[in-house]
Amino acid sequence: MSFLSGTMPQAPPSQKAGIYIHIPFCRHKCPYCDFYSLPLKEASINLDEYVQALLKEWELRRPETEGLQFHSLYLGGGTPSLLSLRQIALIIDSLGPALTPKAEITLEANPETIDDIWLKGIRSLGVNRISLGIQSLSARGLEILRRHHGRRQALMAIEAARLAGFTNISVDIIFGWPGQRPQDLEAELHELLGLNPEHISCYELTIEEGTLFASWVKEGRIQPLGEESLTFFHLLVEEILTSGGFKRYEISNYALKGRECRHNLIYWENRPYLGLGAWAVSYLKGTRSQNPKLPLYLHYLASGHSPPRIEERLDLEATFRETTVLGLRLIKGISISELKGRFGIDPIHYYKTELEHLMAAGLIEIKRGRLRLTKQGRLLADEVGAYLV
Ligand code: SF4
Repeated sequence: MSFLSGTMPQAPPSQKAGIYIHIPFCRHKCPYCDFYSLPLKEASINLDEYVQALLKEWELRRPETEGLQFHSLYLGGGTPSLLSLRQIALIIDSLGPALTPKAEITLEANPETIDDIWLKGIRSLGVNRISLGIQSLSARGLEILRRHHGRRQALMAIEAARLAGFTNISVDIIFGWPGQRPQDLEAELHELLGLNPEHISCYELTIEEGTLFASWVKEGRIQPLGEESLTFFHLLVEEILTSGGFKRYEISNYALKGRECRHNLIYWENRPYLGLGAWAVSYLKGTRSQNPKLPLYLHYLASGHSPPRIEERLDLEATFRETTVLGLRLIKGISISELKGRFGIDPIHYYKTELEHLMAAGLIEIKRGRLRLTKQGRLLADEVGAYLV
């Protein structure tokens, strides 16, 4: 049986896109982190050299982005707040003209790396959203996570960002750290709500292979929380943050009305993005590609050439499946008619058997023309995604 409706797939209504810049350096490597980030000292990299490489990459790859409207620029890491004002100015001066007039410009910052002057500086350079890597407001939590800022520094960072003129502050929180009790999480979230951020990303701590935490678990030095506690924590996060006026709009993300992260929505809607920097991923014209790591990335750009990228071309059906799975991460789910219009594939027919199973298990539902995860399904979002992709 064919699931294709016979019509040609249509391009998304607008070529809304984003730019991601990866700054893969941190002061220290956190023991739970499996992102591509290197302790700055060990990397023995000059940040000026890295910024020059980013600008060169932008110059070389700009033709690939023809026809795209960049609604967001996101400096992520790593720790982009290790960049000086001068380095950030160079990036924004160079990429700014390619952005739409009201583009969201986000920069990720860690509390121990920022001060008032720097915050005011980035605000005046046009950064209009700051994402603070607070991770915990519990002194014990910060110690267990081996973060290099204290509770006081975390609180001061939020206050300083506000005083510097930020009206769109996002805070990252990790829950489920070894030894965390429900009352610890409750206290942290209530305190956080009192600080009035516009956006909160709340991630469960996952023990990733290859990290120090993974070896500490094997050695019995730390004990991860059990499934039951984690499930309870997920429900607690939702209950506290939604009672505090936040809307859960994605599995791990909560926002005040109109303050959803526009950049991340581009990923969840499976729209195009350009990724600049070492190990950065791009998704352009149906092809996903990834830059090499350091030092190869710098080596090529220093000699004026684009670094070779790992590429994967996604056909229509694979793109449809990815779009469905990514869209299911959004609490509102994904519009069935939009999927049909964009790909010429009816998800209800295409996933007939899978949907029957998932619906019978109470994990997925169809509401107002949208396919979405149920409350139970949200607790198993990764498993449902793996089943459908
Ligand atoms: S600061 Fe963030 S990116 Fe850097 S090591 Fe820690 S968790 Fe990873």
